Amino acid sequence: MATILAVHAHPDDIEILMGGTLALLAGQGHTITVVSATAGEGGSAEFDPDATGRIRQAEATASAALIGAQYRCLGFPDLSVFNDDPSRRAVTELVRWARPDVVITGSPADYHPDHEAISLLVRDACFAAPVANYRTGPSAALDAIPALYFVDAIGGRDRQGQRIPRDFGVDIAATFATKQAMLAKHESQASWVLKQHGIADHLADMDAWTRRVGRDFGVGLAEGFRQYRHTPYPKTPVLQDLVGDALLANP
Ligand SMILES: [Zn+2]
Repeated sequence: MATILAVHAHPDDIEILMGGTLALLAGQGHTITVVSATAGEGGSAEFDPDATGRIRQAEATASAALIGAQYRCLGFPDLSVFNDDPSRRAVTELVRWARPDVVITGSPADYHPDHEAISLLVRDACFAAPVANYRTGPSAALDAIPALYFVDAIGGRDRQGQRIPRDFGVDIAATFATKQAMLAKHESQASWVLKQHGIADHLADMDAWTRRVGRDFGVGLAEGFRQYRHTPYPKTPVLQDLVGDALLANP
């Protein structure tokens, strides 16, 4: 069985972009850890930052529990995720603690600065995790760099509106109901995304996005990924092999 570490910026990013794939992997018996860089304490117009952070961590914990996954928060401040030395050491310690076979994080090009920053931090933490002399905390250095993947950006586009290419998709028809249930745990976000993003129904928005990815691959419902293969990261298709029959090639 494999260990999968999913790291994104805010509670609910992982559900929206890769919840179905994680549910699929969890259903196969793999160990999943879901991590948000921040508690998403900016995501409320009703509650103060402390209360919002507590509410959103509880929602993320309940969501992860639906697939038997553990949830952790790195505790970086919302809208203040930066690719700096203390943050890189904290993310490297997380990777060493989790000892993952597969790491999945956000797209290095995305709409939100925290999304882009956590992507770079995770990329570099995977490189640093086997470097024993790079000290981070109690966890031992890894033996090797884990396989690294970027999930789609929100909306699949960079800041210039250009579509970001994918390597492959995962057919999530079998786990879409679980993905919906996971995102539904993020109740506090229903009013927030209406105010900040003008999205009247965040569940319907996720539904539409997942169907749009599906259309790109000629199926009903899908999630998109690309593997980071630059030297010296692993080029072996670990995640592609794990999802098995649900793997979708680009048309
Ligand atoms: Zn986010």
